Amino acid sequence: MLRALFLAPPGAGKGTQGPGLARAHRVPYIATGDMLRAHVADGTPIGQAATAYMDRGELVPDDLVVQMVYDRITSPERLSGFVLDGFPRTIAQAEAAYEWGRAAGSTFHAVLSLTVPDDELLRRIVERGKQSGRSDDDLDTFRHRLEVYKAETEPLIQYYRSRGILREVDGTGSVDEVGGRLEAALDGLDLT
Ligand code: AMP
Repeated sequence: MLRALFLAPPGAGKGTQGPGLARAHRVPYIATGDMLRAHVADGTPIGQAATAYMDRGELVPDDLVVQMVYDRITSPERLSGFVLDGFPRTIAQAEAAYEWGRAAGSTFHAVLSLTVPDDELLRRIVERGKQSGRSDDDLDTFRHRLEVYKAETEPLIQYYRSRGILREVDGTGSVDEVGGRLEAALDGLDLT
């Protein structure tokens, strides 16, 4: 069963492509941004700890996110497949994920990197901000999220490339075109 994650800047289409990919492979779609927003909406302790970081466009501290994802993946029983969106976002998170996977003999099959030029990302996010009402979709916060992505998350591209599991996919074009490229990028992988 597929264990994949998306590695892409905000606005690149993770949330558009992720659910379909997960459905096609019959695995859960786990988006840490969605989980955190649900915690904020419910006023849970995690939500209370995360909300200020999210509103500023900064990353929520690693220990909090790592625990949240670990709990989601391991309870009530360990998931053997999933599509992750928005995790890991730092080297420390990637190392934590590698440790869990190694201990269970089930590391990631593929890391899908969606590449989209910055000006296209900005255009998309302005559109999304009009529709989503997300508090972090205004332009200044978005620019900051992009900077945070480049500083904290982009180094993971090299991290996963050196492990041989990075698949780079052109994220421009229609939803169907990008979806087709994603499937092609997974072709031939041994998904056991
Ligand atoms: P997203 O919906 O993936 O763009 O995430 C929205 C916000 O949630 C991010 O800007 C972060 O503040 C927070 N967040 C989501 N995933 C993570 C993560 N893996 N590590 C730290 N913060 C995260």
